[in-house]
Amino acid sequence: MKQRPSFPARLDSGKPQAAPKTLLGATRVVTPQSPARAKPVGMASPTGVGLDSSAIRARMVKKLAEQGIDDAVVLEAMGRVERHRFVDSALVNQAYEDTSLPIGLGQTISKPNVVARMIALLREAPGLQGAQLMGRVLEIGTGCGYQAAVLACVAREVYSIERLRGLHDKARENLRPMRLPNVHMIFGDGMLGYAQGAPYSAIISAAGGENVPQAWMDQLAMGGRLVAPTQTQSGQQALVVIDKTPQGFQQMLLEPVNFVPLKSGIA
Ligand code: SAH
Repeated sequence: MKQRPSFPARLDSGKPQAAPKTLLGATRVVTPQSPARAKPVGMASPTGVGLDSSAIRARMVKKLAEQGIDDAVVLEAMGRVERHRFVDSALVNQAYEDTSLPIGLGQTISKPNVVARMIALLREAPGLQGAQLMGRVLEIGTGCGYQAAVLACVAREVYSIERLRGLHDKARENLRPMRLPNVHMIFGDGMLGYAQGAPYSAIISAAGGENVPQAWMDQLAMGGRLVAPTQTQSGQQALVVIDKTPQGFQQMLLEPVNFVPLKSGIA
């Protein structure tokens, strides 16, 4: 198996950081409320890697909160998933910056802020109010598998579909050591959804099309919510939220975004 990049000491921003010895030792320097203190996803026990990067992730989570992400469950998930494990070793230093990064084959891993924002929107679905965990979630565009790992923390089952074989394989490799039994990875055309896992309480797309495919609407459970980047009338891309209610579909158009295109077929 390909060696994942270890977390480099260079990643720090020059500011003094809590030495791992302190974290392991008697003196607690991290506040109990800090989301990043939760065990990193997939780690059987705290390892050097997990501890080295947790302070940097805590900073990212703090920034997300400052940017208006106020869902504690989402913030905790963002603090748990080690984003640096999903990017190329050359980009590890940028893994916790609020930026999208190339993941190969012309695709990108979404900005942490966008991932957190979209998942927080899903959790606000009228049919899900008050639920700690979402039920089955469909993700279109597995990419490197990062968002699937975050979703695994907030949903009972995650079905993630990718149309590019190279990225599907890469995501498998990235996610394997995390042993997330509730993530199901599918190689296929996500424009058709994934009927075998339907109905979904939430559907999230990481790629933007001209409109929302009918299959997604069909496969959404009653009370469920879909969040996807979609082209607006002005030709720009914006986040669209669609709720399936007993009164019909209800749509909200939110802020402009910049996602890779949703394409049909596999490659
Ligand atoms: N969630 C990903 C983001 C990947 S970018 C991550 O965390 O890394 C969006 C992905 O959507 C790309 O990998 C692209 O290949 C994929 N994609 C585009 N159209 C698709 C389709 N019809 N079905 C499945 N995946 C698609």
